[in-house]
Amino acid sequence: MKISQRAVQVQPSPTVGMAARAKQMIRQGLDVVSFAVGEPDFATPEHICQAAYQAMSAGHTKYTAASGIPELKEAIVARLRAEVGLDYDADQVCISNGGKHALTNIWQTLLDEGDEVIVFAPYWVSYPVQIQLCGGKPVVIETEASCGFQPDPEEVRSAVTPRTVAILINSPTNPTGAVFDQETLQEIASIAAENDLTIVSDEIYRNLVFNGRQHLSIAMLDEETKARTILVDGVSKSYAMTGWRIGWLIGPKDFVTKAGSIQSQQTSGPSSISQHAALAALTGPQDCVAAMRDEFEQRRDFFAEALRQLEGIQCNVPPAAFYLFPDISAHLGRSLAGKQIDTSLQLAEYLLEQGLISTVPGSAFGAEGFLRLSFACSVEDIERGVQRLKTALEI
Ligand code: PMP
Ligand code: GLU
Repeated sequence: MKISQRAVQVQPSPTVGMAARAKQMIRQGLDVVSFAVGEPDFATPEHICQAAYQAMSAGHTKYTAASGIPELKEAIVARLRAEVGLDYDADQVCISNGGKHALTNIWQTLLDEGDEVIVFAPYWVSYPVQIQLCGGKPVVIETEASCGFQPDPEEVRSAVTPRTVAILINSPTNPTGAVFDQETLQEIASIAAENDLTIVSDEIYRNLVFNGRQHLSIAMLDEETKARTILVDGVSKSYAMTGWRIGWLIGPKDFVTKAGSIQSQQTSGPSSISQHAALAALTGPQDCVAAMRDEFEQRRDFFAEALRQLEGIQCNVPPAAFYLFPDISAHLGRSLAGKQIDTSLQLAEYLLEQGLISTVPGSAFGAEGFLRLSFACSVEDIERGVQRLKTALEI
C-alpha cells in the first residue's frame, strides 16, 4: 500500500517505545527496572476518578464544544491566575488530547512550509518531529550541562534568520530537569521582541519545581512578552493523569480561535469524561500536587546521591521534573560483556538486555553521551536499578 513520504520518514517516539519495550519484557516475566517511563507512577487521586464516574452518571458522555467545555477553560485560567498571577480570558484557551496534541495544534496554526523554529537541545523527543510534520524546520541550539543547560543568548541571536517564526522553550525541561533562570528568559524575550517572533512555552512540568522554588513563566515577564507567547500545559504530570489525555494551549485569542478551528476539523473536543475529571483536578484540593512533588524531590535526592557513587557517571541535580540526565560519555568506547559500546543507544540497549534496566539514550533528545533516567518509580526500584547499573558497568 502507498505510504506518504511524510509517514515513511517518521520514526516512533523513542520515549514511548522504550517504556513500551520495558512493559512488554515485564509481561514476559522479566524483572525489568524501568527508568524509561516519563509519567508519574502515582494513581490518579481518588476524588478525580470519582468526578469521572459522576460525569458519566450525569450524562456527560456526548461531544463537547470542539475546543473544550467552558467550565474547564474557566478553571484553567482561574488556577493560572491564583498560582502565578497570569491573567487570561477563558476564550484564550483551547483544550486538547494532552499537551502533545496542543503542541501539534500550535505548529499547524503557526507554521508555513519552510518556517524555522528555534529549539534547544537536549529537547523533548517529539519537538523536532512535530515541527517537521507540519512543514517547519527545527533549528537546534545545544546547551551544556556545565551551564545548567541554559542557552547562550548570543547563539540564539545568531540562529535567527528571515525564516525564523518562533522560539520553543520548555522550562522545566524534559529531559534535563533544567529551569531557565530569569536572565535567560529575559534574553529570549528580548530576542523574540527584536525579531517579532512567537514564543511557544511548554510548561507541563511547572508544578514539579523543587527546593521551594516558584515556577517562572516567560509570560510573567511583561505584557508584551505575554502577548507573543503561547503556553502549553496539562494535567498529565501535575495530577498523575497521563492516560486521561487532557492538555491545553493558552494564547492570543485570534491564534487560539484558529487552533480551535483546526481541532474542530481534525479531532473534535477531547473526551467529555476526561474533561470533567480535569475540572475536578483543577478545582478540587491541591494537596495531592504538593505531596507528589515532595515525593519526587526525595527520590531525586536519593537517586542523584546513589549515582554519584558510580564510576564514570556525572550528574547534575535537576531543580525540577522527574528525570536525571547523567553524562555517561566515559563509558562510550568500552567493550562491555563482549559488546562494543560507542553510542548512548548501544549503552541503553546493553543495559536493557544485560542489566534489565530500561533507560532512554541521550541521542533521542539530541544529546549524545547522556542517558535519561526517570525517577517516576519507587525508591526500592531506584535502589535495585542503581545496583544493577553498577554491576553492568563494572564488567
Ligand atoms: N511536553 C513535554 C516536555 C513532555 O514531557 C510531555 C510528556 N509526554 C508532554 C509535553 C505532553 O504530555 P501529555 O500529552 O501527556 O499532556
Ligand atoms: N513525556 C514523557 C516522556 O518523555 C511521556 C512519553 C512521551 O510522550 O514522550 O517520556
